[in-house]
Amino acid sequence: LLEVDGLIKRFGGLVAVRDISFSIGPGEILGLIGPNGSGKSTVMKCIMGIERPTAGAVKLDGVNVAGWPTHRIARQGVGIVFQHARPLHRQTILEHIQLALLPDNLLMLRTNRQVIRDAEEIAARVGLSRVMHRLPGTLPFADLRRLELAKAIARNPKVVLVDEPFAGLTAAEVADFSELIASFRAEGHAVLLVDHNVKGVAALVDRVLAMYLGEQVAEGTAEAVMRNETVRRVYLGGK
Ligand code: ATP
Ligand code: MG
Repeated sequence: LLEVDGLIKRFGGLVAVRDISFSIGPGEILGLIGPNGSGKSTVMKCIMGIERPTAGAVKLDGVNVAGWPTHRIARQGVGIVFQHARPLHRQTILEHIQLALLPDNLLMLRTNRQVIRDAEEIAARVGLSRVMHRLPGTLPFADLRRLELAKAIARNPKVVLVDEPFAGLTAAEVADFSELIASFRAEGHAVLLVDHNVKGVAALVDRVLAMYLGEQVAEGTAEAVMRNETVRRVYLGGK
């Protein structure tokens, strides 16, 4: 479904991503892990077209979308949960989901009854029903993360990219979010799940790819990656 092949991203002299390759099939979760600055978010942004890959292919169902603008990649079936949420201050939670449901050129349909019903259904699914008429500024952090998830899945993407969804959440919230992400897999979505820590995602993922300073240092089951020498040295021992 999603195939990344030889992805490279440079920022001036800095090579943030050096030669990363992986693929994710339907109903599969790949964990992308690595310490700060490994290039995890940059890989996601390259897939979503927010950053333009310096080299390499990003294929969706065999179509190379590397270099396409974000709205076209979204239309091809990719949704993203950003590491840092930046909600609009004057739009309610439900309005955010209404906007996320529609392609840019159909935004005038956002008050359409069916769109509102769909938005309410998505709000319910991620646990935002009780706050859907409130403004983001009045809500706790965990609800803003739920909103990010809601926006990412609004247009029923085939591939969902989730950047560090568990950071700053309580154990109960983490369990809740894990369940939501597992439900994407159960529905046949392909999920790329970014986290700092192998242990944090081990129970949830099918496979793990470990990065360090832009490089792919290990790939395999969570157990195998945790046993990998480089991973043990740079992630588990080193910090
Ligand atoms: P974190 O765990 O802190 O989120 P990360 O693994 O997501 O880290 P990236 O955000 O992808 O790492 O950053 C990888 C490297 O690329 C870092 O050295 C970062 O400073 C650099 N970088 C990222 N975005 C840009 C940019 N737009 N311009 C210049 N350098 C960038
Ligand atoms: Mg990041």
